[in-house]
Amino acid sequence: MNSLLIGPATRKQVTFAGACALFILLALIIAGPRAHQTLPAVTPFMPMCALTVFTTSGIAAFLLGARFTVTPQPMLGALGGAYAFTAITVALQLLMFPGVFTRTGLFGAGPHSAAWMWVFWHAGFPLLVILAALTRDRFPSKPIDLPSIDRWTWALIGVPTALAAALGVLAIHANLSAPFQVTSETNALSGGLTGLVICSLDVLAIAVVLFKGRLRTVLDLWITLALLASFADASLNLLSMQQFTLGWYVARVFSMLAPGFLVCVLVWEVTVLYRQLSEAHASLLHTSIRDALTRIYNRSYFDDQFRREFDRAARNGQPLSLVMFDVDNFKDYNDAFGHLRGDACLSAIAKALAGTARRSSDFVARYGGEEFALVLPDTGSQEALDIAEQARLAIMDLGLTAPIPGGRVTVSAGCATNEQNTPGTPNALLQAADAALYDAKRAGRNRVQSVTPRR
Ligand code: GH3
Ligand code: MG
Ligand code: MG
Repeated sequence: MNSLLIGPATRKQVTFAGACALFILLALIIAGPRAHQTLPAVTPFMPMCALTVFTTSGIAAFLLGARFTVTPQPMLGALGGAYAFTAITVALQLLMFPGVFTRTGLFGAGPHSAAWMWVFWHAGFPLLVILAALTRDRFPSKPIDLPSIDRWTWALIGVPTALAAALGVLAIHANLSAPFQVTSETNALSGGLTGLVICSLDVLAIAVVLFKGRLRTVLDLWITLALLASFADASLNLLSMQQFTLGWYVARVFSMLAPGFLVCVLVWEVTVLYRQLSEAHASLLHTSIRDALTRIYNRSYFDDQFRREFDRAARNGQPLSLVMFDVDNFKDYNDAFGHLRGDACLSAIAKALAGTARRSSDFVARYGGEEFALVLPDTGSQEALDIAEQARLAIMDLGLTAPIPGGRVTVSAGCATNEQNTPGTPNALLQAADAALYDAKRAGRNRVQSVTPRR
């Protein structure tokens, strides 16, 4: 099945992604100048956002990793790694954050450890996305056959990177100075060089993704948006480092959008693929039981369903009738008009026969060549004879010209009924209907005959 994620983006998808990009830029332009405006303090907001980023990044990493094991496109694996990295770094930042789990943060974190984890998170993500984008053209859409161990290495590349960053921070946390100089008077661009590096990495990652992918695929679109959200998050954080300011709140919302966008698009892909799969399954099921020429049920369906109806009738003590039809002198028809007209004639006969099946459990199948079978559950011999006679007349009424004395296409029919409470077998019923059909042929064709099946 084709991957929608690395398939071409439709016009509608480009427009929707464009509207999201516009929304992010507008929010940045509006919130930027007011970034340091203080708002009421909502203490659980930060842990709640971090937990959301952790969960959505974890889901994105898992879905991309799983996707990568099916379509081993290194870009998918590397992106899975980038999100695994985000999930781990944000979790470690939360654990080290002073005042969340313990007063100074877990693992013996220093006063600036959490801030450094934030830096690693925001610098590592665009760097890993750049790495992923660089692998884009190395293995084009053609799937490659990687051993399973390599698949997971690609997909989880971010986990060791994140853990290494955390260990580095913890090992030297006592000697770490703050990554940003925060003063209460001037907040604007207080991050200085570190902030500029992070924002530049986001811009560079956007440029690489745009250059490599030119927004051709669905994945290109949403990775660009995730990077844009990441850029807006970093810029607002740097414009106002103080907690509970407008910039700080909006930045947190953007930090949730970066993995959120991708999770939405991955879930959308799974849903669309699931719908396509069930449609393909239904259509496959439909064609597997239909005859290619006449579109009525085929022999394979007849074999299964006839036996099922026979067993059901025997269980319920009900009669079951079978009528076998054979087109008269059909070889002459083909010889006179050609096989193409012969095919059209068979289709018309099949349609007329299907019209005589009235109950939902009645069905007509093409038994083979120019022979058809009509199965009539809960139908006694007299009723079956009447239905078969109506079917014979319906075919004559089609008025199909035939190269025989009567001048019309006709059928002969043989009826057999397995009566109520009389034991029998499906094969015996079939043989009886067949024998009746040959009686009808011998008796001059264009007629219906019936027999009682032998036990
Ligand atoms: P009878 O009245 O005894 O049944 O004579 P008949 O000519 O119908 O019987 P016979 O078995 O000699 O010939 C059956 C013909 O049906 C021969 C075959 O070419 C034709 N036939 C079978 N399947 C198809 C089909 O799918 N398309 C066409 N055009 N002809 C078919
Ligand atoms: Mg025949
Ligand atoms: Mg025939």
